[in-house]
Amino acid sequence: MRCPYCGHHDSRVLDSRPAEGGAAVRRRRECPRCERRFTTFERPDLAPVVVVKRDGRREPFDRAKVLGGLLKARGKRPIPTEVLEEVAAEVERQVRNLGEPEVPSSRIGELVMERLRRVDEVAFVRFASEYRRFQDVQSIVEEVERLRAHKEREEQLRRQVLLLPLAEGPTNGKNEPGR
Ligand SMILES: [Zn+2]
Repeated sequence: MRCPYCGHHDSRVLDSRPAEGGAAVRRRRECPRCERRFTTFERPDLAPVVVVKRDGRREPFDRAKVLGGLLKARGKRPIPTEVLEEVAAEVERQVRNLGEPEVPSSRIGELVMERLRRVDEVAFVRFASEYRRFQDVQSIVEEVERLRAHKEREEQLRRQVLLLPLAEGPTNGKNEPGR
């Protein structure tokens, strides 16, 4: 790769390592002429997924935006950033695996909440309340109650799992659409 500082036609790779949870490769490079160093990222070139917002506007799916929402919901909760990066990466994988060129933003919100719920309850409620700030408080209360019921079911399953080796996990996929 050409040196961005002096324009020399080539550069040397000093170091390669996985980045963004393995979704990219980060390379440190050095120019043999001016000896300055720079970083490149290698990522797969995928067809963009378009997010359809509530008001009908469309924008490309952006994992950094999902992560931004998660970091905001984290507040001062003791959740490692890598955990939230992994949540955002999982959501992106799932969005791509839907195989749809356009995905409603509400669907992405639901995918984030499904995962965040398992990571941290407080952050989950914060995300849900921000995400649904234009809706009534009742939906948040219902979400918290659903979470509580979900945890109880998981707890019961954990106790049963010794007796029933093939017990199915609790399915909670069919959330009602927000509106
Ligand atoms: Zn150079």
